Amino acid sequence: MIALLILGTGGAVPTIDRSPSAAWLTIDGRSLLVDPGPGALVRLVRSPHGPATLDGIDAVLLTHLHLDHCADLAPLLFALHSVVPQSRHLLQIIGPRGLAAYLDRLRDLYGDWLTPRLRPLEVLEVAGGDALEPDDDGRWAVGRARGPTVLEAFRVEHGEDRFSAENLGWLARDRDGRMLVLSGDTGPCRTLEAAARGADLLVVECSTPDELAVDGHLSPSRVGALIAAARPRRVVLTHLYPAAAALDLPALVREHASADVVVASDGDLFEVFGGPPPLPEPRKAHP
Ligand SMILES: [Zn+2]
Repeated sequence: MIALLILGTGGAVPTIDRSPSAAWLTIDGRSLLVDPGPGALVRLVRSPHGPATLDGIDAVLLTHLHLDHCADLAPLLFALHSVVPQSRHLLQIIGPRGLAAYLDRLRDLYGDWLTPRLRPLEVLEVAGGDALEPDDDGRWAVGRARGPTVLEAFRVEHGEDRFSAENLGWLARDRDGRMLVLSGDTGPCRTLEAAARGADLLVVECSTPDELAVDGHLSPSRVGALIAAARPRRVVLTHLYPAAAALDLPALVREHASADVVVASDGDLFEVFGGPPPLPEPRKAHP
């Protein structure tokens, strides 16, 4: 079973009803905080669908190191240095190559203030194509993805930043074979199309209207082209800057592909569950 609590559906600029990126992903009982953008921690503990305290966070999963996707990482570590949190469980921070160097630079500024007081910390850098599985204790490790519960990273098209040459999207597969795909920030790319093929739920960025489209991001016609090629079962649009949020995005996307498309709001919970995926339609015999 997969559940995604979307904590922030805006871009880098917060608005009154859309915060920057953040989500709480649960796969077969294992939960990860995804892309903790500014304010993510407050929104997480306030949500009735998330953990009540930071002790409930066992892993952080990052798509890339832009601040609207990771600004609350330092506040999380700073909070875990205090005497309030009581968990002694391993905290994993999983993200693209360059993540360790990014955290080293933060420690240059803050020193031990960013060392959790009670919790061991593991930084796991992954590359597009890597797959992760949890062990019995819930610790994620790069493996051969033989188990039923899997996270797979794929490279997306979002340029380079100071710390990381590779930006990632994530595919989550549960023990029933259900698939959730998170695009992260990306322009059109084959790797996203391949990951989204047949996904039960595709959560995809739609940053701008078509007339304001920029490199490294998607717009309604670009999302429509992706859906036409990959044919996911359901589509959720997120990472909306104000000009995009003002539009009827599902209608604009459906001009390019027929699909079950909705716009996410902050706090929405999406679930993907059930038994094995449905069997393909039986082929009609030729007359
Ligand atoms: Zn970005």
